[in-house]
Formats: sequence, C-alpha cells, structure tokens
Amino acid sequence: MRGLRSLSLFELGILPTLEPIAALSHLEELLLAGGVWKHQKLACDLGPLAELRELKKLALHNVRGATDFGPLLGFNRLVWLDVATALFPVEEVARLAKRYPFWAKQRPWLRSHDYAETKCERCGGGQVLLLLRRKKAVWCPSCDTARLQKTLQAFEALFEERG
Ligand SMILES: [Zn+2]
Repeated sequence: MRGLRSLSLFELGILPTLEPIAALSHLEELLLAGGVWKHQKLACDLGPLAELRELKKLALHNVRGATDFGPLLGFNRLVWLDVATALFPVEEVARLAKRYPFWAKQRPWLRSHDYAETKCERCGGGQVLLLLRRKKAVWCPSCDTARLQKTLQAFEALFEERG
C-alpha cells in the first residue's frame, strides 16, 4: 500500500478520518468523490492530505464536511486540480486559486451550461454557471454582462495580486 501512486475514494459512507492516506507518501493522484446522487461525507478535516508531498493530481468532488483548504496549500508538484468549487467557502476557494495560478487561470468556477436545455428567456442565448457558494448560479453572459463581471471581479480580487 505504501507504494501506491493513485487512489480513488467514493461512495464509502461517512469517512471518519483521512489519517491512513497520510502514510501513502508516494501518492501522485487522489480522487475524493461522492457518487452522482450522494455526497462523500467527511467527519474530519483534510489535514492528513498535507503529508502527500508527491501529489500531482487532486480531485475533490461532492465532498461535504471539510471546510479548511489549509492542508492543500503545500503541494509543490501539483499540476492538475479539480475541485467542486460551489461546495466550499469562497474564501477557501480563493486560497487555492492564489496558491495554484495554473488552476486560477482555468477559471474553474465559471462553466458553460452546456447540458441545460434552457436558454436565456430574454435573448435565447446559452447560459453559464457560476460555481461559487451563495452566488447566483445561472447567468446569461450577454444580458447580464456587467453584473457577472462585477461578481467575478469581486471574487477574483480575493486572490489576485494588486499591482
Ligand atoms: Zn440573455
């Protein structure tokens, strides 16, 4: 187990601890996810993940219970990150974005609403999803341009360097 390089955990019921993962010091890929309908509940924080010094890829989907991204800020080799941003406090998402600029550049909190049948009622155009907690989720980028930009800028100001 200790030589394990890739690990996926999903639909396990409530996980009481992530402590055993800390021992997997060669781990390069970690997926923590719920199923389509279920959340992966954590009855613990993400602390043990801080030990995964070799981590290159990390996915957190449908994970509920952990709200501190502090343990995720020390991955010097990380090149790929996939986080369900809407499930976590915006301040924590901003910490990750500041630490991992490659991820911030992808703007993972803004997605096209491809799979929706609905179109904007006003202009008939496609919509976008803003995946940030306590923010309006579905936007029309054409009709709501100014308000969407303002909302995005308010969030991105949390981690962008002011020059
Ligand atoms: Zn519109």
